[in-house]
Amino acid sequence: MRKKIVAGNWKMNTTLEEGVGLAKDVNQALSKATPKCDVIIAVPFTHLASINAVINPTKLGLGAENCADHKSGAYTGEVSASMVASTGATYVILGHSERRQYYGETSEILKEKVNLALANNLTPIFCIGEVLEERENGTYLDVVKKQIEEALFDLSAEDFSKLILAYEPVWAIGTGKTATDDQAQEMHAHIRSVIASKYGKEVADNTSILYGGSCKPSNAPQLFAKPDVDGGLIGGASLDAESFMGIVNAF
Ligand code: PEP
Repeated sequence: MRKKIVAGNWKMNTTLEEGVGLAKDVNQALSKATPKCDVIIAVPFTHLASINAVINPTKLGLGAENCADHKSGAYTGEVSASMVASTGATYVILGHSERRQYYGETSEILKEKVNLALANNLTPIFCIGEVLEERENGTYLDVVKKQIEEALFDLSAEDFSKLILAYEPVWAIGTGKTATDDQAQEMHAHIRSVIASKYGKEVADNTSILYGGSCKPSNAPQLFAKPDVDGGLIGGASLDAESFMGIVNAF
């Protein structure tokens, strides 16, 4: 049975002090709650070890927002998957549209990152999604299929089963424009059928597919009610403990 998950993506926000404070607030709220989903926060590299020290890992998972496409060595400024794992983090967001768009991350690069994350026992939260033009010209289903095939279909079924996917229409990220629950369901069902065509129905049915893009406490209940939407990847609204918990409590 696939898991329901709400994951925060803090992006390049919060100082260390602010980040530790926010993580403590989320942790505290979770200590009093019995959420019907797993809860994860993905935070800047600089915050990982400090946040790991103040959260209860049975209530709140911790992840990075990226990792390097090389194991180690002369890659100034990069942070490897093993370094992320050494902080205590167990998740890593990969393939976020901001990484694809601003840092030129291709499917070839993402393939390396996924392999290194898995080799270091990190669970990738792998993002896919179309831009507005692709939505409008009707190619969006093919675009997302290609993103999955190119970066992930060299994995064995066993490794693929370790992934979490996140469908994030780029036109909905940080824009306040959310996909409708029907648009999300159409794409999530499509993603599941793409997975089934390669790995079979059981693997597809067991894969958690999150929706991301201007998800808020007000729209999360309708989105999460759709049968193929297994939760959310939350940007802006994860920077406030109350609104993040509002989304967690949408389940
Ligand atoms: C994201 O960037 O992963 C995201 C979903 O952002 P927002 O919720 O702010 O649209």
